[in-house]
Amino acid sequence: MINNSSILLSFLLFLSVIGYHKNMAKLPVKTFPDKVLKEKTSPVTDFDSDLQKLIDDMIETMYAAPGVGLAANQVGISRQLVVIDASARDENSSLIVLINPEIVCAEGTEDSEEGCLSLPEYTTVIKRAKKIKVKGLDREGEPLEIESDGFLAKVLQHEIDHLNGMLLIDRIGRIKREFFNKRYAREQTAGKK
Ligand code: ZN
Repeated sequence: MINNSSILLSFLLFLSVIGYHKNMAKLPVKTFPDKVLKEKTSPVTDFDSDLQKLIDDMIETMYAAPGVGLAANQVGISRQLVVIDASARDENSSLIVLINPEIVCAEGTEDSEEGCLSLPEYTTVIKRAKKIKVKGLDREGEPLEIESDGFLAKVLQHEIDHLNGMLLIDRIGRIKREFFNKRYAREQTAGKK
């Protein structure tokens, strides 16, 4: 049976959901060769409301792309912050907000086919560590430790590369890089027509 208080509760819930979405904003993603992607980011020191807003906007941007991870410098903020959701390919994984991350242990190697929101329509196979352990902080500044030998391990390494100013194309060999450069130059010429 529906009573007045449950109607009121549903209405308040509805308002909070609407409000929540209204406060989140999709941010433009920086693409190669934007300079901010090449710079090493600096650590996050203030866990204030501006940071919380940036995190929410980054989560919204990642899901909208859609992507499995996003680093703050990909939206033009040169800070050590990433958001990740590898759950589509890693059932043990869920939404992660990781701040000032550091790889403390890396074992084995494995080929990994990767793409990047900052390199649209480009994918390549690169070598990554198979298993890694990462230490960092969560969105409240509490210590966080993540260990993975699955898809999440690759996403973590990809996002931490971003924070160090590294893109996929900085990890490929000379010949692959020449192909990428030619393709990019071709696309630029086509775009100008
Ligand atoms: Zn990327």
